[in-house]
Amino acid sequence: MAQSRSRDLDKLLLRHGHLVGPNFEPGPDLRDDLREYARVLVVGAGGLGCELLKDLALSGFRNLEVIDMDRIEVSNLNRQFLFRLGDVGKPKAEVAAKRVMERVAGVNIVPHFCRIEDKELDFYNDFSIIVLGLDSIEARSYINSVACGFLEYDSDDNPREETIKPMVDGGTEGFKGHARVIVPGVTPCFECTIWLFPPQVKFPLCTLAETPRTAAHCIEYAHLIKWDEVHSGKTFDPDNPEHMQWVYSEAVKRAELFGIPGVTYSLTQGVVKNIIPAIASTNAIISAACALETLKIASACSKTLSNYLTYNGVEGLHTKVTEFVKDKDCLVCGPGVLMEMAASVTLGEFITLLEDHPKLLLSRASVTHRGKNLYMQAPPVLEEMTRSNLDLPLFDLMDKVPKDVVHVTGTTSKSDKKTSSLRKLRVVFKGVDGVSDMDTAGGA
Ligand SMILES: [Zn+2]
Repeated sequence: MAQSRSRDLDKLLLRHGHLVGPNFEPGPDLRDDLREYARVLVVGAGGLGCELLKDLALSGFRNLEVIDMDRIEVSNLNRQFLFRLGDVGKPKAEVAAKRVMERVAGVNIVPHFCRIEDKELDFYNDFSIIVLGLDSIEARSYINSVACGFLEYDSDDNPREETIKPMVDGGTEGFKGHARVIVPGVTPCFECTIWLFPPQVKFPLCTLAETPRTAAHCIEYAHLIKWDEVHSGKTFDPDNPEHMQWVYSEAVKRAELFGIPGVTYSLTQGVVKNIIPAIASTNAIISAACALETLKIASACSKTLSNYLTYNGVEGLHTKVTEFVKDKDCLVCGPGVLMEMAASVTLGEFITLLEDHPKLLLSRASVTHRGKNLYMQAPPVLEEMTRSNLDLPLFDLMDKVPKDVVHVTGTTSKSDKKTSSLRKLRVVFKGVDGVSDMDTAGGA
């Protein structure tokens, strides 16, 4: 690597400082170890993902992988700067990996063109740090549950250090963004603070009909009320330019009537399709913050962000760091939902219990214990192989340990929306005296 490229990095990695983390040992070895051993997964190869790959490659990371299920579209090209017109239709992950490798000598990026749920859990366990450049809550929630699923607690309910899989999560929406560090078991996980993502704001119909105050109110009036009044029975198609034009001109009339400024065609599109424009500079700023946190976690060259940075560039520039706290009862990063049961309960009965359990409500569950598939709903080959286990007692399948952690994946429904979920359960068998068993096994 050219001296000039690592010059800035060397200032962080080769010298001591007042802000360094507790285990920081500066020197060329640290720089080399970072290159050789740190393995970082970037989830998402869109606006943030492109920036992240470039920033991480330039921050001294050499073993990167990227996962994304999307193909490149023309509308991506203004900000997803690794893509060219000729790339339209190709997988984002593959093109992004190739472009960064062409520009940054020595870096190796493995692309994965698939859904995040398609990978085995072990795939995710292989990385030192997982960096998220996503725009969906469901995808964040899934990766979070996977990373937290690796976490184990000791008998005093303290997280075991070697099972902690740190995540760095970035997100942008127009001129706003956030960067956060998630250290499962130590800082709040995504699920602990799920309330940070409020449900989509819907305007009350009476406001739209009677007291509009903003341009968006006028647009939604034309879209939700006026359209049905005029076009009885015809569904509004957001991809039909004539429909959009009609809503726009009705919204303009409405806005004039109430003296409200600001209705434009592109705002109409934005409101109706629920689009928030993506801004390249916001992605660049948030990605830089995420890449720096990743470097700090990997090298301890500085204490990490604690633990949630918000950036707002709407008027001037405003940043703020908030230290959120863990939810002690979190289903995802906590020690796991406790399930006590008789040793005679079969695996099939256990799966039914998961459906009815008020904290879980998990249907179509697949069950694994210490990496071993006890029952898998899919693919058909695995289902067939594990089906006979359903009639066996779970206690036997878990090698007769009186209590242990079991991972289950399945579907949960939240307000009619089905999502893939992974849950950690602490299974304890009643009537099996674990303590005395262990004492006997431990000898004198
Ligand atoms: Zn949590």
